[in-house]
Amino acid sequence: MLPNRFSSFAPALPLAVALLPAGPVQAFELSIPVPLRDNSHAFHAHLPGFLPDGRSFFQGFVSATHAWMDASGVLNLSATDEQREVCRANETGNTENGVSTVSFAETLCGELSYFDTSFNADALTQTHWGSFAIIESDIIFNERFKPDFETVQHYFHNVAVHEIGHTLGLGHSAVQASIMVARLARGERNTILSIDDLCALAVRYGSPDECPILLGQGYSTSGLDTSALFVGGATIDGGVTFQSQFSPSDEITIYGTFVKDEFHRGRGGNLHVVAVAEDGSLFARHVDGYFRPLADVVDIPSAGELRTRPSAQDLVVLGSRHYSREPSVGPLIGAELGLQGQTVLVYLAYSLHEAPGVYYYGGEPISLSWDLE
Ligand SMILES: [Zn+2]
Repeated sequence: MLPNRFSSFAPALPLAVALLPAGPVQAFELSIPVPLRDNSHAFHAHLPGFLPDGRSFFQGFVSATHAWMDASGVLNLSATDEQREVCRANETGNTENGVSTVSFAETLCGELSYFDTSFNADALTQTHWGSFAIIESDIIFNERFKPDFETVQHYFHNVAVHEIGHTLGLGHSAVQASIMVARLARGERNTILSIDDLCALAVRYGSPDECPILLGQGYSTSGLDTSALFVGGATIDGGVTFQSQFSPSDEITIYGTFVKDEFHRGRGGNLHVVAVAEDGSLFARHVDGYFRPLADVVDIPSAGELRTRPSAQDLVVLGSRHYSREPSVGPLIGAELGLQGQTVLVYLAYSLHEAPGVYYYGGEPISLSWDLE
C-alpha cells in the first residue's frame, strides 16, 4: 500500500513478547532499502515518567540513541523533549505526517491489534521512506507496559535500542544474541549490540569491512562486478561469539545474511548454500534444511526464497529449530554425512529468477572444523 508515489509504507514492526506475527522473522535483515538521510535523524520525544534508576524516560531514550551512535561513529541521532502530533490525520494505523515522534500510546493511531493482547508488542516503529532516504520514523511504546518500563531494570533501554534499530532500517534478526531479535528477553544483556547488530550497522552505514563475519568480497559467476555481500558464521552461544573450531558435542548454529546487489532491489530469486568437504565433495542445503550431495555448482538447488523486498535477508543455514523458522538441521552436516574430523567450508550465494544459473556469492566461506576426540 503506497500512500503516495514518493513514499513507501513500512509495515509496523512489532516487538512481541508472547506471540509473534505470522511470516518469516529475519541473522540481521535490512528491511528498508535506503539509509537515513545524511545518516541523521531527529526525534520529537514525549515520554513522561521515570525509569527504575530515577532518570526520565526521555533521558533513557537519549542514552539508547547513543548505543547506536557510539557503535557506528557516523550516525547523528537526536531527540528533543517535545510533544508533537504522532498520527496522520483521518487515517487509522498510519503515523506519516512529516514529524518523527517517540511516545507512549495504547494504540497505533487507532489501530489496536499490535498493542492489545493478541500481539502484546512492547513497542513498534513505523518508518516511511522515499527513493533515497528514510524520511520519517515514529516509535510508540505500549502504554499498557508502562508500569513494567518503570520498574524492570534495562527493559526500556533494550526495547528502545531495538526500536531505534528499526528507525535505522534494520529488520528482525534470527540471531538470538541480537538486539534486533523479534522476541527480546527482558533483563540485562552482556553487550547491548551483538556482532550481528554491528554487522548490520556496518553494512548499512559504515564500511562492510568493519563486520568481523563478512564473507569476503562479493562475486558473480557471470564475471561482472557486484555489490552483493554475504555475512555469516557458526556459533554455539546464540551469536554472542562466532568461531570455526568445534568439539563433536557442540550444538552449532550457522547464521547467514544475504545482502543484495543494489541493482537487484525488488527482485526475487533463490538463496543457495554449498558446503565443500576436504576431499572436494560438494553438498547443497535444500529448502527443507537438509544438506545433500551436489554434483556440480552449475545447477544448485534452492536453500530458500530470495524475497523481493528486503535489501538483506537472513537464513539459519544450520541449527536448531526456531519458532516460525527453517526446519531443524542438526546436529551437523559432519555427523549426518560422515565428515567428522574434517574441515567443511560453507559458501553463501543467491540467484535471481530472471537469470537462473548466475550466482552471486561471497568470496570467503564459513569454515567449520571439529575434532574426533
Ligand atoms: Zn522489532
